[in-house]
Amino acid sequence: MDAKLLLRRYLEQRRELGESELVLDSLHVEDVMRLLGAAGKPVTDAPRRSIRELAPAAAQDWRASLRDAGVNVDAPVSSSASFPDPPNETSPPTAEIANDMAFKKGIVVSPNETELIPSPIEKLRSLDEIAAKVHKCTRCPLYATATNGVPGEGHPKAELVCVGEAPGAKEDETGRPFVGQAGQLLTKILSAIDLTREQVFICNVLKHRPPGNRNPLPEEVEACSPYLIRQLELIKPKVIVAFGTFAAQTLLQTKIPLGQLRGLVHRYHGIPLIVTYHPAALLRNPAWKRPTWEDVKLARRILDSAPRS
Ligand code: URA
Repeated sequence: MDAKLLLRRYLEQRRELGESELVLDSLHVEDVMRLLGAAGKPVTDAPRRSIRELAPAAAQDWRASLRDAGVNVDAPVSSSASFPDPPNETSPPTAEIANDMAFKKGIVVSPNETELIPSPIEKLRSLDEIAAKVHKCTRCPLYATATNGVPGEGHPKAELVCVGEAPGAKEDETGRPFVGQAGQLLTKILSAIDLTREQVFICNVLKHRPPGNRNPLPEEVEACSPYLIRQLELIKPKVIVAFGTFAAQTLLQTKIPLGQLRGLVHRYHGIPLIVTYHPAALLRNPAWKRPTWEDVKLARRILDSAPRS
């Protein structure tokens, strides 16, 4: 492979990792990129160093290219230098690069890897970005047994957000929240307070199904809850309804039983939060339908009295 191409690839990797200076005779990465004919980046405030001449490199060898530009590549390199040994002209083709000893010293980027540096969840800018991230998520082992990630769905500026526990079988199969039997009951509960599924946002604490619908483990909640936190930050609803013990205790960071959490207006980062029974529990115990009705009516009243935005 062409030596200039190899060097350019290496520098692109370093630049993606946020490095702006190449530890090679104090040469600036942008200058080397330009020297190699790669597109430059916008100039930042970072101090830049000059090189004497940015002449186009004539030779194939990258050392010769830099030497042409006036760089003293033959000087001893500092011990912190992380530049790989130069590849020779008989380097194997791209597919075999990962096995090449010269490249083991650098950073190997596989074209199959989706992210070189995973972006933090709290910086995701939209619900779609969160959903895309959930679909690729490997933060806990649940992704391995699930069929689909279930990020949540609904209005991106919903005034009411419903939070459940975790996807069940039907949700896992379809990638959509609350679409099984409990979901159908949730749709009815919402319509009882004049809301459609499209008007609200529906999601869960966990975005992948626990095998056999077992209870979520604390480490799974820890790994997954940044998604929910970011969803709520972006949506900024006027009221949150936590369906079931698990959603309520996770959002309120408490171990208090659901029976004691119901009937009160809690706050999640200032947003009113109502706790009620999980629709699946109502299917097992219809006597809880009446108190659930009271709870969602309370949520409706909060919505109706919230200032219009
Ligand atoms: N139960 C939940 O908590 N969430 C779903 O999406 C479905 C069932």
